[in-house]
Amino acid sequence: MKPHLVVAGNGMAGMRVVETLCRLVPDNFHITVIGREPRENYNRILLSPVLGGEKTFDQTVLHPREWYRDHHVRLLTDETITSIDAGRRTLMTSARELSWQQLVLATGARPVPDR
Ligand SMILES: Cc1cc2nc3c(=O)[nH]c(=O)nc-3n(C[C@H](O)[C@H](O)[C@H](O)COP(=O)(O)OP(=O)(O)OC[C@H]3O[C@@H](n4cnc5c(N)ncnc54)[C@H](O)[C@@H]3O)c2cc1C
Repeated sequence: MKPHLVVAGNGMAGMRVVETLCRLVPDNFHITVIGREPRENYNRILLSPVLGGEKTFDQTVLHPREWYRDHHVRLLTDETITSIDAGRRTLMTSARELSWQQLVLATGARPVPDR
């Protein structure tokens, strides 16, 4: 049985990890990716041209849903991780509890303004 690797965050960094694992060690993990947005992985940097009407959202997609399916990666979208229990190796999302053997935290960051 393969270890369950959960990637918290379906963004640029998280999906780079998944892409690399799928290329280098495609049979080593059972992978689940969790993202709180309702969409597949896209290039955030291109959001300005989307808002400006110069590109469509589809043109920003880096990994369409078929990519996850073809690489046997389970994608959970529109699901927020609400807590992580590192001792039990479990986490709660807005929809379920999941256990994991390996956890990658790739939930991005928010800028903290200086006072
Ligand atoms: C309009 C715009 C233009 C930009 N331009 C540039 C640029 O020119 N150059 C540059 O270097 N950078 C740019 N950036 C910044 C760049 O997009 C970020 O640095 C990069 O996306 C960070 O990647 P990340 O994977 O760490 O985080 P993100 O891409 O933010 O991904 C984080 C993921 O985690 C998910 N997540 C967060 N919390 C939870 C939770 N509790 N449960 C489940 N999922 C969760 C999010 O939904 C998201 O899928 C730009 C950003 C924007 C918005």
